[in-house]
Amino acid sequence: MAPRTPPDTLADWDRKYLWHPFTQMQEWEQEAPLIIERGKGAYLIDTQGRKYLDGTSSIWVNLHGHRHPTLDRAIKNQLDKIAHSTFLGLSNPPAIQLARELIRIAPKGLKRVFYSDNGSTAVEVALKMAVQYWQQRHPEAGPKHTFLHLKLAYHGDTIGAISVGNIELFHGRFKPLLFPTLDAEPPYCYRCPLALTYPSCHMACLDPIEQLLKTRHREIAGFVIEPLVQAAAGMIMSPPGYLKRIRELCTQYNVLLIADEVATGFGRTGKMFACQHEGVTPDLMAISKGLTGGYMPLAATLTTEAIYSAFLGKYEEFKTFFHGHSYTGNPLGCAVALANLEVFRTEKTLAGLRPKVALLKRLLKPLADLPLVGDIRQRGMMASIELVQNKTTREAIPLQARIGHRVAMEARLRGLLLRPIGNVIVLMPPLSSTRDQLSRMVEILADSIDTCTHPIGAPDAA
Ligand code: PMP
Repeated sequence: MAPRTPPDTLADWDRKYLWHPFTQMQEWEQEAPLIIERGKGAYLIDTQGRKYLDGTSSIWVNLHGHRHPTLDRAIKNQLDKIAHSTFLGLSNPPAIQLARELIRIAPKGLKRVFYSDNGSTAVEVALKMAVQYWQQRHPEAGPKHTFLHLKLAYHGDTIGAISVGNIELFHGRFKPLLFPTLDAEPPYCYRCPLALTYPSCHMACLDPIEQLLKTRHREIAGFVIEPLVQAAAGMIMSPPGYLKRIRELCTQYNVLLIADEVATGFGRTGKMFACQHEGVTPDLMAISKGLTGGYMPLAATLTTEAIYSAFLGKYEEFKTFFHGHSYTGNPLGCAVALANLEVFRTEKTLAGLRPKVALLKRLLKPLADLPLVGDIRQRGMMASIELVQNKTTREAIPLQARIGHRVAMEARLRGLLLRPIGNVIVLMPPLSSTRDQLSRMVEILADSIDTCTHPIGAPDAA
């Protein structure tokens, strides 16, 4: 076994050799890196032996906790057979079994599974499938290769995923590389672009979407949407009936509905998939993150028989979907994903969530009285708190104040790990978190926000 590298040396090497994602490295190099060595349940443990509650589920992926015996065993058992073969021209048992299980739990009507490695790629696959589908199924329809999506959307970091995304800070500088799309205002009720209030608004934000679909449907291949929760946009949650109406409009105007369930899938919103809250079956569905219970990188794009069959034909018709990655259908990933679904069944995870979700709601409610808390949003085990400068006017805190970052740093000192999105503090605990752990997380969150309240606007806040 390799000798243990002392924590301080690891910290030096991290600063010296690494480049971290979504991280201002100049800032990173000045702070002591937190290096996680182990985990257990809802806790992460660093190289110094300090324990932290995993308030982000290790960036929204972990469901049943770290070191779950069923998940650990699934990987070890598979490793005794083989770690990886290829899916190009070959198959493997866990990938086959997992596909069957996924179809069993997916929204009714989804019948085929195409594997990839991460959420962005699962979205890219959906985009490519949609374009090729229209070329092959309805060539007479002309080029149908535009996508409609919501403003503030985030569907991943690859060029296609960014093209259907719309977060200026992340995506703006890459505009020269992106393909043109159509976008529409999201159902951001707290900051309604139409200055209306739900339900008396009758979801008027859908009118421009209908107008776009009506006038441009001949060129629109698909409508890409995160069902129910636009997560990286700052947890924008659509009102009841919104998704269902989007489904109806897509059907009416012959546009494919592409559901990005990368963040919302696998119990996050209280049901296995967010689409199932409104009885919606998308035409294409991208999944990743929770697919392996947060253990291995794996993703999939699910689709209907109607779309799949448009790709069938003699080889020389060239209807093949020419897309695939070296690690597609990786057996270790598929084995642990199967174990993840087994835990859902044996531990009745979804049924057990209901009281936890209600508890989380009760715990979060009093935070509304804190001076900076503008809005508290929650859907299942996805919660967020939007911090504002002025609760009456809802004036935003300038990003330069780094309020989200400061709250996260305060929480870290108290033993809770958070990853904010700008001024929005996100709490996404593992689904397996106990009542005590949820209480402790919210307690730390409240203390941390409270501590950061006072210096807002002070010179040292910049
Ligand atoms: N779609 C959504 C909704 C996401 O939240 C994310 C990641 N946060 C992605 C796609 C991209 O997934 P990945 O980071 O695995 O590429």
